[in-house]
Amino acid sequence: VGRAVPRSIAAALADLVGARQVLVGEMAAGHERDWTGRFVGHTPCVVRPGTVDEVAAVLAWCNDRGVAVVPQGGNTGLVGGGVPLDGEVVLSLTRLDSLGTLDHDARQVTSGAGVTLGRLQDHARAGGLRFAVDLAARDSATVGGMAATNAGGLQAMAFGPMRAQLRGIQAVLADGGVVDHLGGLVKDNTGYDLAGLVCGSEGTLAVVTAARLHLEPEPAHRVTALAGFSSVGAAIAAARRVRDEAPGLEAAELFLADGLELVVDTYALPRPVATAAAYLLVEVAGAADPAEALAASLAATDPVDAAVAVGSQRRAELWRYRELLTDAIGHQGVPHKLDVSLPAVALERFVPDVEAAVSAVDDTARCWIFGHVLDGNLHVNVTGPAPHDDRVDAAVLELVAERGGSISAEHGIGRAKRRWLHLARGPVEVRAFRALKTALDPHGILNPGVLLGAASSS
Ligand SMILES: Cc1cc2nc3c(=O)[nH]c(=O)nc-3n(C[C@H](O)[C@H](O)[C@H](O)COP(=O)(O)OP(=O)(O)OC[C@H]3O[C@@H](n4cnc5c(N)ncnc54)[C@H](O)[C@@H]3O)c2cc1C
Repeated sequence: VGRAVPRSIAAALADLVGARQVLVGEMAAGHERDWTGRFVGHTPCVVRPGTVDEVAAVLAWCNDRGVAVVPQGGNTGLVGGGVPLDGEVVLSLTRLDSLGTLDHDARQVTSGAGVTLGRLQDHARAGGLRFAVDLAARDSATVGGMAATNAGGLQAMAFGPMRAQLRGIQAVLADGGVVDHLGGLVKDNTGYDLAGLVCGSEGTLAVVTAARLHLEPEPAHRVTALAGFSSVGAAIAAARRVRDEAPGLEAAELFLADGLELVVDTYALPRPVATAAAYLLVEVAGAADPAEALAASLAATDPVDAAVAVGSQRRAELWRYRELLTDAIGHQGVPHKLDVSLPAVALERFVPDVEAAVSAVDDTARCWIFGHVLDGNLHVNVTGPAPHDDRVDAAVLELVAERGGSISAEHGIGRAKRRWLHLARGPVEVRAFRALKTALDPHGILNPGVLLGAASSS
């Protein structure tokens, strides 16, 4: 179908997985472009194995011939790590979508790599349990992609990121060897933690095919509040106070006046509370009703205005103002997504300073800032600069490093931040990274452009 492609790769892979599961030309186009539209590549084919044995066969074939592979799940990653920017084969894992029965005794479940977060959440909820990582891309992001990126999300402050939920992993190494460790033992000190290692490796060390996941009990009560504050500092202080006083805080999201206005304008929504300089969305949950404790602690923070919601529909209405923000920013142009974290003490000052740093580089650039405030995690989105103009990226990431923060809080390094890895990791750490990469993927076929790149390019 479509343009000329090296048929030999597609044809050989079709022999392994069936012709219908190898996409070329127009059929492959959606897999060549990332969610933001900033990273667009090309591939000889997208191969979609349906079993772990097929994944192993595909990798063994590619490994023997030095054919580079980009693993891909829901393609919601935000650092250009899941698209074939150098003509790699795309290995799509979405057909590995089996979900095991809930193990109530262990509070665990085994999930295929291709299961979407939304499906996993529904599956757990139907049995009175829940999966404690949540993010706005839930309908597309997959368990494999979330493990590969160590996704954080809206509740990481309470339950930790993906790595904290992993109780075992099944993953295929570059040569087709299968690591099968899905037993789910909570205590298991029998050597290297391969699940922990593969988690966050962004598809550079192994391909995740399944994961054994920890589940939490579903709380009986859940309350959400959205409050406006006169300054960023007041909103941050309020989040800390609610954390200290209201039991069961599970989410604390900060966004600014321009972000709320953008969502209101883009989706023609009513203003949820009176206009303020900064907004905080908090959610508490527990076996006992936390509404009164939340309202009391929030009132003590002296907000400009606040709305509290108990029913699920009203809660979802409040969440829209935060969750639609990423999409709304996309309507303003191709965003540069700089997901960073700062020490708690540096957070408040960083907001005006990063805006100034971006303006100093490009006075037409627009900064949109929001984030998971109690993790010190801010998403600095910049619209205006051309997709390949990375001067603002440099300015933001250098400022973050200078303030003692991390250049990637949760999205990973991917392609987008590879140039700046040295701001986060010292030469000995990078040497250790390379040793791991060479040991597990000696021919360098797994996502060769991601994280480290070729030995000469980092
Ligand atoms: C609206 C929106 C909101 C978001 N919110 C958050 C958030 O709050 N927190 C957060 O952490 N992220 C967030 N993200 C980013 C993204 O959803 C996560 O990085 C997610 O984990 C990616 O999952 P995916 O299946 O889409 O992976 P992909 O985008 O397909 O891939 C991501 C990376 O993982 C690798 N990979 C994918 N599958 C596998 C596999 N099976 N084995 C090995 N490697 C693999 C890819 O090669 C790539 O490097 C958001 C994205 C969007 C669009």
